[in-house]
Amino acid sequence: MRIHKWSDSGKPIPAALRARPVAVSALALALSLSAGVAAVAAPPSDSPNGAAAGAADPTPGSDGLGDPYYPKDGNGGYDALHYDVAIDYNPPTHNLTGKATITANATQNLSSFNLDYAGPAVGSVAVNGQPAQFSRTGEHELVVKPKTALPLGQQFTVIVDYAGTLPDSGGNGWTYSPSGGAFAAGEPHSATTWYPLNDTPLDKVTLTVKATVPTGWDVASNGVRASDVPAGTGKHTVTWEAKDPIIGYLSTIAIDKFTRLTQQAGSTPLESFFAPGGAQQKKDLEKKLPSVLAFEEQLYGPYPLQAGGGIYVDTNLQFSLETQTRPIYAPWTDLNTLIHENAHQWWGDSVSVKDWRDVCLNECFASYTADILYPERVQGRNADQIYRRALASADQQGVWSTPLYDPGKGNEFTVVYTRGPLFLHALRRYIGDSVFFAAVKDFAQGHKHGNASIPEFRQFVQSRTTKNLTGFFDAWLNGRRRPPSEYLYPGSLSNQGMQQAPEEPGADAWPFGRGDRK
Ligand SMILES: [Zn+2]
Repeated sequence: MRIHKWSDSGKPIPAALRARPVAVSALALALSLSAGVAAVAAPPSDSPNGAAAGAADPTPGSDGLGDPYYPKDGNGGYDALHYDVAIDYNPPTHNLTGKATITANATQNLSSFNLDYAGPAVGSVAVNGQPAQFSRTGEHELVVKPKTALPLGQQFTVIVDYAGTLPDSGGNGWTYSPSGGAFAAGEPHSATTWYPLNDTPLDKVTLTVKATVPTGWDVASNGVRASDVPAGTGKHTVTWEAKDPIIGYLSTIAIDKFTRLTQQAGSTPLESFFAPGGAQQKKDLEKKLPSVLAFEEQLYGPYPLQAGGGIYVDTNLQFSLETQTRPIYAPWTDLNTLIHENAHQWWGDSVSVKDWRDVCLNECFASYTADILYPERVQGRNADQIYRRALASADQQGVWSTPLYDPGKGNEFTVVYTRGPLFLHALRRYIGDSVFFAAVKDFAQGHKHGNASIPEFRQFVQSRTTKNLTGFFDAWLNGRRRPPSEYLYPGSLSNQGMQQAPEEPGADAWPFGRGDRK
């Protein structure tokens, strides 16, 4: 669901405001219900048709939301509420037939609107049951012109029928598996390769995925599996329901001859999937998931989603990805990766970026959790010692010339993994454990199922301490050089503290984990 406004005070917005951010006037809604579409969508009073004074002419929704790095991502003029994506996929031919039903609210008088879509050929589009004109432009724009303009506040339904052979994107969306199966993974773009949507972190929806596949093939997706029923000769349809708000790159589907592992973390059901081949050896690792989630709940509050688990693929991906409730894991996945991707369920999935300048909100926290907090709190390591070693390594890697906030398009997944966890550890030592841990938990819970930005995080942490953090944040988040010593070595990281915490042998490679992790 789309979030239009956020609190200027840095305080969390009440859930009631977050839940329905679109200000639909009761009058507009009443008009659309009582007077019908034509009257509300009619041109202004100076037109020959005559209409209510003050009603704006229907205009096209914008073709992008102006993300600084990806300005054409997402679309204006509506707020998507739910996607129902029904596909029929044949693994041997990679042929897919899809029918996507998008339910949305008009946020302006709309003459036309865009969906983001880069998949196979579109056969037809219907709006509220009426055939609509459509065209495809740019990298991923599907322009839809309904027969009748859509008035502000009206809920409407779009059905897009499409079909064709899906190519292998190699980790930028639809991706083939060695077994002959396939899955969807990519950041920041993935979903547009297999269904049309409003592809922006700002528009969170609920999602139903119904996949029909040949007998013998299984389907994993987000949320909970609602049903698995026969679909004619030699096929079955598996339905997954993601009831927590979700955004495009965090949605996934995986089709393979999986084996499954069912577990429980408190009251949260966990279902995990293992592709044929090497992924089968990851079951012992995945059995650590309940304890990893319990550890992360201590840090960030209750697990924010209805279900959990993982999808272990056998494709040689260069990344693993925090797809919601069920991360996609590459074959090199280790415990560090498991901790990292599940920390993302709080940082990235439940609390999502407002735009891609904020990527540190995702990666700095996921990396700090996996690289420093878990070793410290579960494995008994000295956190300051890990920090100092990593700092020396970071110097060698030249991480200081790229800022953590607004690292630049194409640099999103670089220094957040090295400079990022160092930043959070230095912040913790600068403001103290009690302020730090309470603030990050409250921030995660306050923005649950919403969006947040790095400037909001700064403001929020500042509101929790009398210490002036401007210089610290500027140096760590915005600076293009090594932060000064007062910000690099606060608290127990000071020289005195360093002497009290001697080096231990066996330095780890930095950053931890393997591959070009996400
Ligand atoms: Zn990550």
